[in-house]
Amino acid sequence: MQPVIDIHIHIQPLHMFRPQALAMIKRGRKDYADVERYSADPRLFLKFLDGLGIERAGLINYVSPEIMGFTPEVNEWIAKYCAAAPDRLLAFGSVLPRTVADAGAEVDRLAKLGIRALKLHPSHQVITPNSYRDGCAALAAVYERAQANGLPLMIHTGTSIFPGARNVHAQPILCDDVGIDFPNLTVILAHGGRPLWMEEAFFLVRRHKNMHMDISGIPPQKLLEYFPRIAEIADKVLWGTDWPGPGVPEITGNLEKFRALPLREDAKRKILYDNAARMFPR
Ligand SMILES: [Zn+2]
Repeated sequence: MQPVIDIHIHIQPLHMFRPQALAMIKRGRKDYADVERYSADPRLFLKFLDGLGIERAGLINYVSPEIMGFTPEVNEWIAKYCAAAPDRLLAFGSVLPRTVADAGAEVDRLAKLGIRALKLHPSHQVITPNSYRDGCAALAAVYERAQANGLPLMIHTGTSIFPGARNVHAQPILCDDVGIDFPNLTVILAHGGRPLWMEEAFFLVRRHKNMHMDISGIPPQKLLEYFPRIAEIADKVLWGTDWPGPGVPEITGNLEKFRALPLREDAKRKILYDNAARMFPR
């Protein structure tokens, strides 16, 4: 079986969640007890990945004190978690400028801590991706230091239904400036702007040499409807699920449905593995 990387899984410190946000995760979810067990023990989570045939996983964490409840300590938490198997677990952390004294230095510190990539969640962090052009110098420092440390930056794009999420910040086109001003920064537009702004995401991935996208959170049966020309950008698309996010019941069915899509086998292989493997060399 061909190896697979799920670049977008939320293994998070559940104890930090605000009650309203945690209720969103639990709502209608039959496997919440598993989410708890996996979050508590990376060895159990690795067994779960083994059963799914998933070689590596990007574990997404970000600072969002007001809306989600996550403080900068999420970085220590996920770095420690992933240290159990650094060859298989990719720690995504984050630097939210207003929560640290020196945002650039914080990126350097996270790189040393074992964080492999950064996540910016504009709608949960209430920050606009291009606001460095509008006075937020600390955000430019985050991008500069991420670029210098070779840390890819995942930027959430598309709607979120978590209580308090401010979707005005999540439009992909706001990342066009990032592609212009930080051309060597590897960017992943999470969710390809779904379900409202797919054309913007597709445009940016084609326009900027280091801009990629992941297809997490998109029901696979909708993928070709959302991105009819996805084969043209098959070198810059990463597979992921967004499990256990709202609307993502489980991983296996997602993978099977993706494999069944009428796409060329080489495009599927790139999306399921090659592109992420190139971005995160062992
Ligand atoms: Zn996500």
